Amino acid sequence: MKDKKVAIVGAGIGGLATACLLSKKGFDVTVFEKNEQPGGRCSIFEKDGFLFDMGPSWYLMPDVFEHFFDLVGEKIQDHLDLIKLNPSYRVFFKDEGPTVDLFADLEKDAPVFEKLEKGSFKKIKEYMKKSEEHYRIAMDKFIYKNYDSIFDFFSLDLIIEGLKLNILSKMQSYVERYVKDSRIQKLLQYQLVFLGNSPYNAPAIYNIMSHVDFNMGVFYPQGGIYKITEALVNISKKYGAKYRLNTPVSKINTEDGKVTGLTTNKGDEIPFDIVISNADLHHTETSLLSEEDRSYDQKYWDKRVLAPSGLVLYLGVEGKIDNALHHNLIFSKDWKKNFSQIFDRPVWPDDPSFYICVPSKTDPSVAPEGKENMFVFVPIASDLDYSEEQLGTYADRIISTIQKEMGIPDLNKRILVKRIFCVKDFKDRYNSFRGSALGLAHTLFQTAIFRPDNTSKKVGGLFYTGGNTNPGIGVPMCLISAELAYKRIIKNKNAGPLNKL
Ligand SMILES: Cc1cc2nc3c(=O)[nH]c(=O)nc-3n(C[C@H](O)[C@H](O)[C@H](O)COP(=O)(O)OP(=O)(O)OC[C@H]3O[C@@H](n4cnc5c(N)ncnc54)[C@H](O)[C@@H]3O)c2cc1C
Repeated sequence: MKDKKVAIVGAGIGGLATACLLSKKGFDVTVFEKNEQPGGRCSIFEKDGFLFDMGPSWYLMPDVFEHFFDLVGEKIQDHLDLIKLNPSYRVFFKDEGPTVDLFADLEKDAPVFEKLEKGSFKKIKEYMKKSEEHYRIAMDKFIYKNYDSIFDFFSLDLIIEGLKLNILSKMQSYVERYVKDSRIQKLLQYQLVFLGNSPYNAPAIYNIMSHVDFNMGVFYPQGGIYKITEALVNISKKYGAKYRLNTPVSKINTEDGKVTGLTTNKGDEIPFDIVISNADLHHTETSLLSEEDRSYDQKYWDKRVLAPSGLVLYLGVEGKIDNALHHNLIFSKDWKKNFSQIFDRPVWPDDPSFYICVPSKTDPSVAPEGKENMFVFVPIASDLDYSEEQLGTYADRIISTIQKEMGIPDLNKRILVKRIFCVKDFKDRYNSFRGSALGLAHTLFQTAIFRPDNTSKKVGGLFYTGGNTNPGIGVPMCLISAELAYKRIIKNKNAGPLNKL
């Protein structure tokens, strides 16, 4: 394979993981990244001794990470110093009380469920048992799979398995079958935001996220989530992958329906046999390819449902924050209105649910001694328009809400470092379509066979990887997307275990 020259556009998790697989297999790999560092959404920002993970903070689905490291012949513990968070997270119910901690241990979590709804624990156990069963089916039959056609997807075997997964009902109605209390319903559904979806629109198959959350638990690599990026860069470099940072690609070149190479923004035209784009799919298709080479037309993009964007605050805080755990969630009372203001009537949510991460609670290396590192993520509509003044005012409102709900009355006065990142930054930094934080939402018609494929329909030798292809959003899914693209490239679309790479 040494004679095959491969270019990867974008050093996000999908691009880096594909670089690991292909370089290990012997391909001559070069990764082109527009930004100053690898990682894409999984990169870092450092200021005055505070080290902020810019995007992901939840290390979920450890089985998927183990599988990937195994695939490239590495021991995960040689790269990541993982700890299991205990409790996993704390939830503050605005106006609905009480504040609760969840442990990813059903017996320990039982009193929380019983306190919120008497007699609910028996139903929760049934729900979790099903979630675990659904997770296994999804992993074994659907997620690690490339599909060529609708017939491939709707085989009798998969129809039978798919029906077991409640593909046709929505999460909200599915959860209502088990519990009545709106706070428990929220606990079982907030994970959908990780998939860019609302409970009123997400197919019930995504109850598998409850197994991930309540049975498998939440982990953290010491040093920060960016350690995952570093590990993937190190592994790919070990096998010869080269990196060109600060090098945006401006064109993917083709001839007679086949890829011939790419052109960088500096005008360098470089020949390649294979190109894999990990850049945002809409950007790749509409900015890097000429019209006749595009797999998807404008009508297609007009109909896509985008995952939310987000208002992100990176705060360096003087002194310690006693009331916070590593992961904290503040839930609004009117859940339905909040989702509607994100997905149906885009406005700044007037009573938002949001997430606060304080990784310095577990990891002293991410903040100077005696200070806290605080990351806040407020889901908002993708493409929301705003002035800088509106952004600043909304950010202040969020800080006031944290002060009140988490009982930190002087938070505002203790802020030493403050950076705001929002819709326009997602567009500028990642070329993200409509400034979405996560990409295409996981609606039924943007899942599996209905999600953009990892192979160009028009150009031979052109492949896609990352959150906008299969299986979808999130760091573990992007690792799988790399494996799926790799199987396409080696022309064995559903190769079995690959640890003999
Ligand atoms: C705020 C936030 C919180 C999140 N929290 C979690 C979490 O807790 N857990 C989790 O698992 N996931 C989380 N996610 C999702 C996860 O980060 C993403 O799904 C994943 O990192 C996306 O990886 P990707 O492979 O799609 O590449 P991306 O991260 O999208 O990277 C693509 C890369 O392509 C580059 N690029 C774009 N255009 C060009 C070009 N023309 N030339 C060269 N390079 C280009 C970009 O600069 C970027 O580096 C979060 C995301 C965000 C934004």
